[in-house]
Amino acid sequence: MTKTRLFKIGDPILKTGMYICVPCGFVTEFFEGETFSTCEACLAGTPDGPYDFQNVEDEFWQLYDDYLENPTF
Ligand SMILES: [Zn+2]
Repeated sequence: MTKTRLFKIGDPILKTGMYICVPCGFVTEFFEGETFSTCEACLAGTPDGPYDFQNVEDEFWQLYDDYLENPTF
């Protein structure tokens, strides 16, 4: 059983790869050793983000390969 894992702003990146912003579908690359930032397309995790994704504690990044296997929406 695949466990869907979502990440929020400031979470450490444990694996370099393509990640998808679940609320808007924007895909970008993040690198191991860095931390997740807001989505440059929809500003999720900030007060200017989409509905239900305006808090810094909201998790919205998902590893794209996991998303393809196990879409959250
Ligand atoms: Zn986004």
